Amino acid sequence: MPIYDALALFSGGLDSILAARTVAAQGLKVLCLHYVSPFFGHPDRLDRWREAYGLDIEPVDVGEAYVAMLRDGPAHGVGKGLNPCVDCKILMMSHARGLLERYGAKFLISGEVKGQRPMSQRRDALDVISRDARVRDLLLRPLCALTLKPTPMEESGLVDRERLHGFNGRGRGPQLALARALGVTAIPQPAGGCLLTERESAKRYLPVLAHHQAPTAADFELANLGRQFWSGSRWMAMGRKQADNAALGALARPGDILLDVEGFPSPLGLIRELPGHAWAPAELEDAAALLASYSPKAVTSGLDVVVLATRVGEAEPQAARLTVRPARESKTGLAEPDWEAQAEAKRGLYGESREDDH
Ligand code: SF4
Repeated sequence: MPIYDALALFSGGLDSILAARTVAAQGLKVLCLHYVSPFFGHPDRLDRWREAYGLDIEPVDVGEAYVAMLRDGPAHGVGKGLNPCVDCKILMMSHARGLLERYGAKFLISGEVKGQRPMSQRRDALDVISRDARVRDLLLRPLCALTLKPTPMEESGLVDRERLHGFNGRGRGPQLALARALGVTAIPQPAGGCLLTERESAKRYLPVLAHHQAPTAADFELANLGRQFWSGSRWMAMGRKQADNAALGALARPGDILLDVEGFPSPLGLIRELPGHAWAPAELEDAAALLASYSPKAVTSGLDVVVLATRVGEAEPQAARLTVRPARESKTGLAEPDWEAQAEAKRGLYGESREDDH
C-alpha cells in the first residue's frame, strides 16, 4: 500500500479540491477520502475527478455509521432539513483519523473556511468539530490556516505555513484565484448535493426514523426511490419510472413483498414490513388497489385487475393473486409524507432546527 503524508476529506466541491491540491503542491503525498452514504457521495465520479484534479481518491462507505448517528440523535442537532452538519463532520473526521495508521499518514486535511457556512464553519463549530473528533493536533485546514493558530504540522516544518491561506467568509473570489494559480480548470458548481439538506428528501427519511427501531443504510436507499407511501408503521415504495422499478427490484431483500399488476404495464411496489408490524390481508389489498391506480391502462380498463404479491426470499416464491379495483384513495391511509406532518415528527425526534444548513 502506498504511503501518504496526509488524508484529505474530499467531497468533490471546490474547497475540498483546493485544500488537497494546496498541500500536494508542497510535495506532500495526499490521499483524498470521498465519503459515501445514502445521503451524499458520488462514487461514480471518482475516475473523472482523479483525471481532472490529478489526485488519488478513494471512496469510503460510511452509511451504516451515519444511519446509527441519525437514529441515536446527533448531539449537535440538525439544520432546516435533516442535516446534522456538525456531527457529520465529527463522524467523518473521526473515521479519517482511524485510517491514518493504515496509510502511514501523519495528518488530516479539510477544506473548511471559517465563517463560510453558518452552522458548521463558525469558529466555535470548527473548535467543537476538532475537539469531538479528537483531531485538534492532526487537522490542517489549508484554506483558512492563517486565520487559525499554527498546527503541530506547521510548527514542525512538515507543512510550510507560508504557503497556506487565510480565506474567511463566504466569497468565492479567493478560491477561484487559487484555482487559477494551481491550474485547476474544472471548477465544480457550488455544492448542493447532500440530500439531508433538502426537505423533499428529509420528509422521505423521517418516517423511517420515526417508525423503524433499527434502520440500516439499505432502508434509506429505498426511501430515496420513487414514490413513498406510509400509514403509521406501514411502508410501501413505488416506482415512478422504469429505472425506479429496476432499482426497487435490486433493493428488494428477503421478507419484502413485491407488488405488480398482472397484464398491464404498471409501477412496481415494494412493501417493507417493519419488525413487529406485519401487514393484514386487507391492508395488502388496499396497497394493491393503490398501486393499480398508477397504471393508466389498468384504470381505463374499468375492471377489477389482478395484482401479484410475491414475498421475496421464499424457497419457492408463490405470488398471491389479489383481485382489486384500482383506487387512488387508500382506505387504510397510505399517503405520501408531507412536510408539515414530518416537521412535527422531526421536532419530536430532534428538537428545534439549528440556525441554518451546512
Ligand atoms: S451538508 Fe451537512 S450533513 Fe450534508 S454532507 Fe455536508 S456537512 Fe454533512
